[in-house]
Amino acid sequence: MLAVQGDVEEHLRALERSGARATPVKTLAELEAVDALVVPGGESTTVIRLLERFGLTEPIRERVRAGMPFWGTCMGMIVAAHDVAGLEQQTLGVLDVTVRRNAFGRQISSAEVALDIPALGEKPFPAVFIRAPWIERAGPGVEVLASHAGHGVFVRQGNVVGTSFHPELTGDARVHRYFLDLVRAA
Ligand code: GLN
Repeated sequence: MLAVQGDVEEHLRALERSGARATPVKTLAELEAVDALVVPGGESTTVIRLLERFGLTEPIRERVRAGMPFWGTCMGMIVAAHDVAGLEQQTLGVLDVTVRRNAFGRQISSAEVALDIPALGEKPFPAVFIRAPWIERAGPGVEVLASHAGHGVFVRQGNVVGTSFHPELTGDARVHRYFLDLVRAA
């Protein structure tokens, strides 16, 4: 779990509940010790700046390109994206999508939605959105696993997964299990 800023604790606990051994990553040595990386919700501008300062931007890019499973939730998906609509924002560029920040507007800036995610079974997923981004453009290699308000909110491109919402804030562990299956397969 990238632990430079954001809702790290909730995610660590949710990963542990789903059977993973989860540790915070703040340094290069800690990055080298993990099999997969999760980037939580938080503030993307701050995290992108901190990754540069801690010398983690390029090492994370290299590992993800070499196949390390990566999951970005909300801010984490913005950090992973190829680019951010309407903004000159530096990103990792490991997920071939354009994201729009704070995309759902004020009324539903914070909401829980029963989201259909066929890949996780029939029961809708309780998706918590907090000033969430959506997918504005998805490249040909990107699979859109769920949409809300006409835009992708759960995507996967090989070893890289992105969710606009926060599965760590619900009791439903299906997205965590989905990611951990991918980690085991890798
Ligand atoms: N709005 C935040 C950003 O653009 C993301 C919000 C979140 O991660 N909950 O960085």
